[in-house]
Amino acid sequence: MKYISTRNNNISLTSSQAIIQGISKDGGLFVPDQLPQISLEDLKDLDYKKLTFEILSVFLTDFEDNDLKECIENAYDNKFDTEAIAPLVKVGEDYCLELYHGSTLAFKDMALSLLPHLFKKALKINNIDEEVVILTATSGDTGKAALEGFANIDGIKIIVFFPEEGVSKIQKLQMKTQEGANTFVVGINGNFDDAQNGVKKIFNDEIFIKRLDKNNYILSSANSINIGRLVPQVVYYFHSYFELVRNNQINLGDSINFTVPTGNFGNILAAYYAKKMGLPINKLICASNENKVLTEFFDTGIYDRRRELKLTSSPSMDILISSNLERLLYHLDESHEDLTPIYMEDLSKNGFYKVIKENLSEFYAAFATEDEVSETIKRVYEKYDYLLDTHTAVAYNVCKKYQKETNDKTKTVIVSTASPYKFASTVASSIGIDLKNMDEFEVIDEISKKVNSDIPKSIKDLKTKEIVHENNCNKEDMREIIKDFLGVGGSSA
Ligand SMILES: *Cc1c(COP(=O)(O)O)cnc(C)c1O
Repeated sequence: MKYISTRNNNISLTSSQAIIQGISKDGGLFVPDQLPQISLEDLKDLDYKKLTFEILSVFLTDFEDNDLKECIENAYDNKFDTEAIAPLVKVGEDYCLELYHGSTLAFKDMALSLLPHLFKKALKINNIDEEVVILTATSGDTGKAALEGFANIDGIKIIVFFPEEGVSKIQKLQMKTQEGANTFVVGINGNFDDAQNGVKKIFNDEIFIKRLDKNNYILSSANSINIGRLVPQVVYYFHSYFELVRNNQINLGDSINFTVPTGNFGNILAAYYAKKMGLPINKLICASNENKVLTEFFDTGIYDRRRELKLTSSPSMDILISSNLERLLYHLDESHEDLTPIYMEDLSKNGFYKVIKENLSEFYAAFATEDEVSETIKRVYEKYDYLLDTHTAVAYNVCKKYQKETNDKTKTVIVSTASPYKFASTVASSIGIDLKNMDEFEVIDEISKKVNSDIPKSIKDLKTKEIVHENNCNKEDMREIIKDFLGVGGSSA
């Protein structure tokens, strides 16, 4: 399997090369040149790790089988607090796929527990002995999960930029207390899009990259633009489907829906890939918060980022430029007229684009307001004794809107992306806890008492951890701070 750029079919890399590069030099994203068909019958009884191996091996074709198996063993071990890795829980008529049982309590762990191991193998396959610098922009969860994954890995440094005013208290604390001499964390005076754009610009800055190269560094990314993030995410869509079959909720071959709380469009794109590989999916339901650019896009075919970013209680979805949508556009461009680069040019020059031929009907999209998020957390807790985090509540709310609007009775899996303890204040006030002057940890204790569930260990540990990262910069100064970290100073490049 080869990986080609969404902006130029002539750029073609192996999977290990695409993982190392992260993003194509022309600014495009790497996409697999085909989506292989999978036999449901062959995979239906596999456990999470074995299933991961089967899916990875069709995408990452230049990795040795034994290497892949070793990576998978190292990724999905006791860092996860359940052997099921990704449990599926029935909530009313629907099912929640809990992807937050890894060490940072968000679904990013599903891919980022694996990526560093894949990365190390990829460097070996390509005989690269330069030091790798992982550069990542985060809306809160990617940063911590990437830091955890890459901390103390030889030959790799990791630099994470997060929006100072755009992440939850717990998310910020998780990052600022990160251990590992190879980790660097910087708060940006701006929002997530500023951080993400800054990182993208650095990747396209040839002079800067040459300077790093001279100092024996190569740049890469752990953002969901990296194909090594996307492929592991395909796995849990198959896994949850087979869980439904094994629990006699559906028959093999029946169609189901997925509702995915969406920001950068990475998670739901993985669902789309699963569908194209033969997983029987009826609707892909794309759930947004009040930053509803994607809802409008699926309704009108116009993607328009020209608005203020809102800071919501689901910060990991506070995004106006959903990077991975570029991959969907590429796959939907069935007439092969190379429309994707034109759209992306429009977006960067004019702030919007309108798709002309693409059929978007495989998707349904809607959004949830802040009030609806709180109401949903309250209602689901009272009715089903099940606590949703803010992101999953967005998805739950949108799922109900879809079902009401269409009367579609297809079984639906709601993708649960974070632990409610990670977004404690909103969750607590939604279920009637009076926050008074409580600090975040007191709020967490109150939730635990009220709903009678254990506080995840990584949150407890956070309380006593030392803050070791205090860096902050303006979005214009990201290059300078990188140069400082790496000791490759000198006048501006
Ligand atoms: C990152 C994240 C999302 C959004 O996922 P995308 O792949 O960016 O669409 C949703 N919920 C949580 C908790 C996240 O961390």
